[in-house]
Amino acid sequence: MYTRKNKKVQSDIQKRTELAELGEFALIDRLTRKVKIRNPGTLKGIGDDAAVIEVKDKALLLSTDLLIEGVHFDLTYMPLKHLGYKAAVVNFSDIAAMNGIPKQMTVSIAVSNRFSVEALEELYGGFLLACEKYKVDLVGGDTSSSVKGLMISVTVTGEADKKEIIYRNGAKEGDLLCVTGDLGAAYIGLLILEREKEVYKEDPGMQPELTGYEYVLQRQLKPEARTDVYNLLKGLGVQPTSMIDISDGLASEILHICKGSGVGCKLYEDKIPIDTQVRNLAMEFKIVPTVCALSGGEDYELLFTVRQQDVEKISSVMGISIIGHMVPASEGQKLITSDGHEIDLTAQGWDAMRNRIA
Ligand code: ADP
Ligand code: MG
Repeated sequence: MYTRKNKKVQSDIQKRTELAELGEFALIDRLTRKVKIRNPGTLKGIGDDAAVIEVKDKALLLSTDLLIEGVHFDLTYMPLKHLGYKAAVVNFSDIAAMNGIPKQMTVSIAVSNRFSVEALEELYGGFLLACEKYKVDLVGGDTSSSVKGLMISVTVTGEADKKEIIYRNGAKEGDLLCVTGDLGAAYIGLLILEREKEVYKEDPGMQPELTGYEYVLQRQLKPEARTDVYNLLKGLGVQPTSMIDISDGLASEILHICKGSGVGCKLYEDKIPIDTQVRNLAMEFKIVPTVCALSGGEDYELLFTVRQQDVEKISSVMGISIIGHMVPASEGQKLITSDGHEIDLTAQGWDAMRNRIA
């Protein structure tokens, strides 16, 4: 599936219009000509010195991300359209983690002349697809050249009722720790892509073997933001006490909530939701599956705490797992392993994990 996509990108890149042929303004026009405005609160989008957004009595959320080629993404296996989609979605996820709805977005890019106009159109195809799916308006940005490589900065606004915003600092002793979806798949997807890249480097004639891995590849290459959880929890009549999205791995995010809220926690290994395929592939890569969930990152699920009295409302929901509870800070942050041992929860983080495996 992704092999075919890659070939399509290749053939588009062959139809190569140099950036210098267009100049900055024509390039901006070309990249943004398909932009549609979908939110009535967007009073002015692209085309003036600033976008204009109506706020009324709500709170405005604002989040931004900077992505550098070679540091945050690798174009050998990341098609540009997927990159655009992901760059947008990870920002939408930050808004979802505040219990808000993403509304507007700006995109700034710095590109070297290695990229053609058509390649940048692929990237924008990804931004536009994400905007369409999440009903977000692309309202501006900036375009610059870079000496080497591609840099992308995405900023997203979101809207929230002041009363409904959920911070990282509201968890209390006794609250239940919950997570949406399943964890670890995005990291396994990355390992598969890196494995195929190595094979390709040794023998460029080899086709990557990606069939059968659709789920984990999609989790890595085309993640989704859990903006649906806002309505789900509202429908249940549950207001989480704290919330965060899982970009760096479960362990690190739990520690953020504990630190922000001044509490400890007990996390139960056997409650952590991990897909069967992720378990099997982790074993193949000789990694403990739990480690993928704890330290892998990029799953973009939501981690939140709820009051104990909400246990029945939450436990009946498919796709939400109760994985632990909060305790006094003096008891620390603990992982209770499947065989009953209690160990300190540490944020190994992304880099430590990669080094361990390399
Ligand atoms: P300025 O000189 O005020 O920075 P620009 O010429 O850079 O204006 O931009 C003109 C318009 O196009 C503005 O509305 C800006 O937000 C928008 N824009 C510029 N670059 C991009 C981009 N890469 N993606 C989306 N919109 C852009
Ligand atoms: Mg500008």
